[in-house]
Amino acid sequence: MKKYDFIIAGGGMAGLSLAYYLTQSPLSNRSILILDREQKNQNDRTWCFWERELNAVGSDQSSRTLAQLRPFESILFRTWRSLFFHGPTYAGELDMRGYQYKMLRSIDFYTFVETELAKWPTVERKQATIQRIKDTPQGGFVIADDEPYIADYVFDSTFTLKLDQPENHNLLQHFKGWVIKASTPCFDPKRPEIMDFRVDQQGDCRFVYVLPFDEKTALVEYTIFNSTLLFDAEYDVVLRQYIENFLTTDAYEICETEYGVIPMSDEPTQENPSDHIVRIGTSGGFTKASTGYTFHRTQRYLQDIVRNLAETGKPQRTIPWFTRRFKLYDSIFLNVLEKNRHPADDIFTRVYTENPRRVFKFLDEETHLFEEIRLFATMPFWPFLRAFFDVLRRKIAG
Ligand SMILES: Cc1cc2nc3c(=O)[nH]c(=O)nc-3n(C[C@H](O)[C@H](O)[C@H](O)COP(=O)(O)OP(=O)(O)OC[C@H]3O[C@@H](n4cnc5c(N)ncnc54)[C@H](O)[C@@H]3O)c2cc1C
Repeated sequence: MKKYDFIIAGGGMAGLSLAYYLTQSPLSNRSILILDREQKNQNDRTWCFWERELNAVGSDQSSRTLAQLRPFESILFRTWRSLFFHGPTYAGELDMRGYQYKMLRSIDFYTFVETELAKWPTVERKQATIQRIKDTPQGGFVIADDEPYIADYVFDSTFTLKLDQPENHNLLQHFKGWVIKASTPCFDPKRPEIMDFRVDQQGDCRFVYVLPFDEKTALVEYTIFNSTLLFDAEYDVVLRQYIENFLTTDAYEICETEYGVIPMSDEPTQENPSDHIVRIGTSGGFTKASTGYTFHRTQRYLQDIVRNLAETGKPQRTIPWFTRRFKLYDSIFLNVLEKNRHPADDIFTRVYTENPRRVFKFLDEETHLFEEIRLFATMPFWPFLRAFFDVLRRKIAG
């Protein structure tokens, strides 16, 4: 049996990104096998994320080329310089100077990465269903379509997290979106709405997200943070009502539909469950528990993994202990939502409007303690204090 240097189990967003970073690193001569049960030839999702403008990135990065710093910049579908928000006490533009909001269609990402990987004879791709991943003294061992494979390291993005421990907070971010084409111009392509809370909250956190592509076309997505998925038709009712009530068009056609569920959970995940297996992407716990954003974090974490692998031969990320405080902040926020301690629309209004720019840095986990205290000071005190003690109680009980 051929032994690979790396097997990438699951060639989706994380798996393909990792393969790409490996080929761009000093490890480019290593053998890589990518296993996925799907051919990635559909636009099965879109990824949005914010990113600092390049001139706002530190001078230590200035020697790196754009392709190294932002490998997917050339295939972005849209970049917006401003973001809008509609909450109970504020409606208008958010101050995001220094940041941009970006959208990448998965089909463009898959095509770009597959084209790059095809240039490397060291990279093999097989379409197969993975049945088992196991650590052995010889390496990471995978069975896919009844065929065995072995490698020094298996990077696994197929592992399903079990979100069932009662001491943790296990919410879901679930959403359905339509790309609609209106019969008359009704969108301002420069005004993406990150959260519009003018929908019935029903005791949860519910909002509509509107990303305009041009004056007639936009993604309109109904998003909920809670623990119960809706029936398909229930998302449709709200989408239809929202379009009727808040968009000034009589007729529209639905061109594409997107549905997704993202875990918003503080369940401790095992990024390195054994010597030869590393979990990446959603499987590795790369999703930010309090927001569901995963794309940008995955890119950062994978770049760290590849750097460590090239420098030390080990794929573990070094996580400074003090950055673990952000996990506590996520748990507190999830507790406030789960226990419905304060209306979520008011919390998000305060977060976004009273913390200009700081909020994006905070969500990227790049703030200093002093900035975090200033942000916490804008939150309702008692609900968050109660949540803090409840999180401590649950952690001790668990
Ligand atoms: C509809 C949708 C929209 C999203 N939008 C955003 C967004 O805007 N911003 C953001 O930051 N995050 C977003 N996310 C969250 C997250 O970024 C994506 O889910 C992302 O694709 C996760 O990457 P991944 O590699 O962990 O998983 P995936 O991209 O799902 O890759 C896993 C791969 O493993 C393969 N696989 C699984 N099991 C097996 C098996 N047994 N055998 C073989 N292959 C297998 C799958 O075919 C898949 O290709 C979104 C998620 C969804 C579902």
